[in-house]
Amino acid sequence: MSIQIYNTLSKTKEDFVPLEEGKVKMYVCGPTVYNYIHIGNARPMIVFDTVRRYLEHKGYEVNYVSNFTDVDDKIIKKALEEGVDSEVISQRFIEECKKDMASLNVKPATTHPLATQEIDGMKDMINELLEKGHAYVASDGTVYFRTRSFAQYGKLSHKNLDDLRGGNRSLLVTGEEQKEDPLDFVLWKPKKEGEPSWESPWCDGRPGWHIECSVMSRRYLGEEIDIHAGGEDLIFPHHENEIAQSEAANGKPFAKYWMHNAFLNIDNRKMSKSAGNFFTVREILAQYDPQVLRFFMLSAHYRSPLNFSAELMEAAKNGYERICNCVDQLNYLSGQAKGDSLDEKEAAALQEASGYEEKFDAAMEDDFNTADAISVIFELVKFANTHASEGSSKAFLEALKKEVVALSDICGLIVERKAEMLDEEVEALIAERQAARKRKDFARADQIRKELLDQGIVLEDTREGVRWKRA
Ligand code: AMP
Ligand code: ZN
Repeated sequence: MSIQIYNTLSKTKEDFVPLEEGKVKMYVCGPTVYNYIHIGNARPMIVFDTVRRYLEHKGYEVNYVSNFTDVDDKIIKKALEEGVDSEVISQRFIEECKKDMASLNVKPATTHPLATQEIDGMKDMINELLEKGHAYVASDGTVYFRTRSFAQYGKLSHKNLDDLRGGNRSLLVTGEEQKEDPLDFVLWKPKKEGEPSWESPWCDGRPGWHIECSVMSRRYLGEEIDIHAGGEDLIFPHHENEIAQSEAANGKPFAKYWMHNAFLNIDNRKMSKSAGNFFTVREILAQYDPQVLRFFMLSAHYRSPLNFSAELMEAAKNGYERICNCVDQLNYLSGQAKGDSLDEKEAAALQEASGYEEKFDAAMEDDFNTADAISVIFELVKFANTHASEGSSKAFLEALKKEVVALSDICGLIVERKAEMLDEEVEALIAERQAARKRKDFARADQIRKELLDQGIVLEDTREGVRWKRA
């Protein structure tokens, strides 16, 4: 069976056939970095990281590109409030975003381009669009895309140009009277006082948002790519405009498959700062293990709306722990196991257990149905819990554990807890360190301190002796 992907372009599930055998070129629109990322932003990150992991599991080499939008009105506003350069704000929140991604076990992209580092490429593409008659320069130096020059405009959002025009009279806002048509959108705009800007043949200014992704995608992945993804709010106008720009400039289809995740709501309401129902990932991670948040995100299909609430997070915590407890138990039994080799009954049980992997793959191949895939992990956990016992062989227990860990790992879920150092072991190491210091072997003493720190144990030398705590 091949992987089926729901393509927003065709509104159907299609067989996944990559442009180049064994390789996948994938672009995911990344966040605008003016604050800590919120839990809504974490949904596409986790969902598409899981798509990537599954493709890699199937042996594809995935070139995964995800940008940071580091020039934008919101960043400029925040920089003005703090009295610093925009770059200070964007750099700070890129670093913070990367920390959140690492906590959530989201793999770093192959390339994480920054919009401000790609201005030359954007000017090149704008020039190409001007030369081909798909863009024009207004009297104040603004460059617009001539939307009606791209006949297929609307094909992704399934909107009709004339309906768009009729329903969007408000598109013509003050200052944009110079547009030939209300549907035209900005490729380059003149600078305003105090804003970051770049020189260009049209005016000193900065790029529009949409051109950024068309350019970064072309630079790092080529003119034609396999998968382009993001949240469903990006379908129109962002992705529709990306298609218009890229296909008008390159004369080729842009992305083969367009994937969009549905939104995350909080307590059944749209997440909104002003309504007071808004959480950053950082706030949630102060309360929950990041793996619980990842589990929660994958517990629904990515195209279904997902509701965030304390009850559902508790349910996610229980679900996640059920898997971890199974692995703990298998580890414990394996440590105690007497026999080393499989008996006939165990060999038959392992044969049966391998069926879960096929079932897991079938769920993932049905448009990445992680909800069903996680149910299969639960079935496997139940199977392991019933079949593993004190009489099991080490080989059997290890094989079961390997299977549970492997399927969880494809979802990016870390289910094997690091064994915590026992208090007696900590005390013994501290005593050894004291002895090392007494004989002036400071290298050994430092090594022990570091060893403990790696286990999350912090030492404090006081007058009364050494105190320690778990960080
Ligand atoms: P932004 O920084 O607003 O451009 O968003 C970055 C990514 O997060 C985009 O793919 C958005 O579609 C996605 N996103 C924003 N809010 C939500 C939400 N509440 N639920 C799911 N995805 C979201
Ligand atoms: Zn984009």
